[in-house]
Amino acid sequence: MEKTDILSMSFGELSAALKDMGEPAFRAKQVYKWLHCECVTTFDEMTNLSKALRQQLNDSFVIFGAAIEKKLISEYDDTVKYLFKLHDGECVESVLMKYKYGYSICVSTQVGCRMGCKFCASTLDGVVRSLNASEILAQIYTAQRDNNIKISHVVLMGMGEPLDNYDNVMRFLELITDEQGQNMSMRHISLSTCGIVPKIYELMEKNLQLTLSISLHAPTDEIRSSMMPVNKKWNVDTLLKACKAYTDKTHRRISFEYAMVSGVNDTNECAAILAKKLKGILCHINLIPVNEVKETGCVRSSKERIYAFSSVLEKSGYTVTVRRELGSDINASCGQLRRSKQQNG
Ligand code: SAH
Repeated sequence: MEKTDILSMSFGELSAALKDMGEPAFRAKQVYKWLHCECVTTFDEMTNLSKALRQQLNDSFVIFGAAIEKKLISEYDDTVKYLFKLHDGECVESVLMKYKYGYSICVSTQVGCRMGCKFCASTLDGVVRSLNASEILAQIYTAQRDNNIKISHVVLMGMGEPLDNYDNVMRFLELITDEQGQNMSMRHISLSTCGIVPKIYELMEKNLQLTLSISLHAPTDEIRSSMMPVNKKWNVDTLLKACKAYTDKTHRRISFEYAMVSGVNDTNECAAILAKKLKGILCHINLIPVNEVKETGCVRSSKERIYAFSSVLEKSGYTVTVRRELGSDINASCGQLRRSKQQNG
């Protein structure tokens, strides 16, 4: 019999399962606390349960973890990049960053990605599989234990497309914000998508307080389709219409991500078109000097170009930030570490 993934279970599901095993009601609280507050990785660590019960749990359930396969610490800042090994041997990446306000972690939602963005290392070999809620949580739990810290912010911006793994990501959000577990504020969570439009509408209906990031990267269909195949399915206008509906409904500011690629999407003309198209959408624009991944051939825009682009947007009244680079010495941009492991063994 296949064991049940206990870390992905909601408190209600866990309570029902333990009740079926003949346990009293308080047992679910104990077990849930061990799993989501103490973040144990074995049932043997649940020392206030009898040995017999620990054995019984071990027979029926499994605690999926994320084992540290590789860890790189930046020499420039306190950024830590992890390569985590999952129960089936597949690997995903996470990046832990220290800010003035606390710790933030960028986690993966899939092994690989099937979106095919031309500049991105995660997608070069397609998707292997989606992660369960537990495997997204485990990246956070392992990083916390490894550094003896509490992480306050999460960005779903690692490998994978979160809205291509919608149900597991929703369960993850439910668990990480659960008062009986980590109790993270939904306002401290960002979800980044390349633009799976029907799922943006679905998310909108949930009216969550998280920050939605949209990987826009180009203002016209011609340019965006050349960078991101997803644009052929849901084009710029269709995506921006969904974004407008999203902000109107949730009143939450959207963050538009824009990776600056020299000679591709970084002209003042692009900035002007962008300024026009984002009109009326409650938003913030984040310019990212593209990380040059060997296989993609993308070259980053110069600092001067980025600031010129930025000032066109600012003159139109937008708030713009240029992403500060953390961990540039440790391949901190998504997909690069898993790839180097695959290639070097
Ligand atoms: N699939 C989701 C989340 C993962 S990617 C998405 O597309 O949003 C996280 C962010 O990094 C996205 O904005 C993505 O476009 C960007 N990104 C990927 N490769 C990059 C690179 N080489 N340089 C700069 N940004 C990159």
